[in-house]
Amino acid sequence: MQQTHTYLITGAASGIGAGIAAQLAEAGRHIIVSDLNLEAAEAVAEKIRADGGSAEAVVLDVTSDASVAAALAAISRPVDVLVNNAGLQHVSPLEDFPIEKWDFLIQVMLVGVARLTRAVLPGMRERGFGRIVNIGSIHALVASPYKSAYVAAKHGLVGFSKVIALETADTDITINTVCPSYVKTPLVDKQIADQARTRGIPEAEVINQIMLKPMPKGVFIEIDELAGVTAFLSSPAARNMTGQTLVLDGGWTVQ
Ligand code: NAD
Repeated sequence: MQQTHTYLITGAASGIGAGIAAQLAEAGRHIIVSDLNLEAAEAVAEKIRADGGSAEAVVLDVTSDASVAAALAAISRPVDVLVNNAGLQHVSPLEDFPIEKWDFLIQVMLVGVARLTRAVLPGMRERGFGRIVNIGSIHALVASPYKSAYVAAKHGLVGFSKVIALETADTDITINTVCPSYVKTPLVDKQIADQARTRGIPEAEVINQIMLKPMPKGVFIEIDELAGVTAFLSSPAARNMTGQTLVLDGGWTVQ
C-alpha cells in the first residue's frame, strides 16, 4: 500500500525538497513536485521520470490561498502525504531586520504550513489516511543569533504540530516535525555568505566554527537521512507517532 502513496512536497524545486522527492520516487512513490518556481519544479519532475519514477510538477505558493487551491485542483491524485518543506532564511540583528521580511518568513514557514495542512486535511479525513511531515530545523528547538524570524517560525511549527496531532487523533492521520541541523543546500550556501558578511569573518570559519562546531559528529546532515525519516513517518510502523519532533543534529542538543 505504502509504495503507491502520493507525496505533495512544497518547495521541492531545490535542496532538501528536491532531494527527498528524488529519493522517495526511487522507492516507488508518486511525487507532486510543487514550488514557486514552476520551471525548476518541472525540471525536478522530468529528471524523476527520466530515472524511471513517477512525478508531476505544479506551481504552488504557500503564501497564497488562490495558489494552493489552484494547485490542489490541478494535480492528478489525492495527497496522502504532505511534506511542508518550503522555506527561506534571513540573517540579521533584530534592529536591522526589515519587519516586512520578518513577517514574510513567518508567512512562508508557519502560516504557509497551516494553510497547506488545512487544505489537505478534509481529503485525508475522507479517505481515512494522511501523513503530514514538516521540515523543521534544529532552530525549532534552540536559538542562534540573527535568526529571530526563522527561529520563531520553526519553534511555532512544533507547537502547531502538537495541536494538529490532537485534532487528528481520532483517525489515521499523523503530523510530525523533522529537525535537521545544517544540510548543504542553496539555502545554506547563501547563509554562509550572509553570516560571513554579518560577522565579518571568512566563509570557512562560518562553516567550521558556527555550523559544524555545535555538532559533536561534525558533519553536515545528508538528504538521504531526511528522506529516510520521511519514509518512516509515512509507514504503518509510525502510525502512533504524532506531534513529535525527530531530531537529526549530530548530537547538537544533547550537550
Ligand atoms: P532551498 O533554498 O534549497 O529550497 C527552498 C525552496 O522553497 C526553493 O525551491 C524555494 O523556491 C521554495 N520556496 C520559498 N518560498 C516559497 C513559497 N512561498 N511557496 C513555495 N515554495 C517556496 O532550501 P533548503 O535548504 O532545501 O530548505 C528546505 C527546508 O528545510 C526549509 O524549510 C528550511 O528551513 C529547512 N531546513 C534547512 C536546513 C539546511 O541546512 N539547509 C536545515 C534545517 C532546516
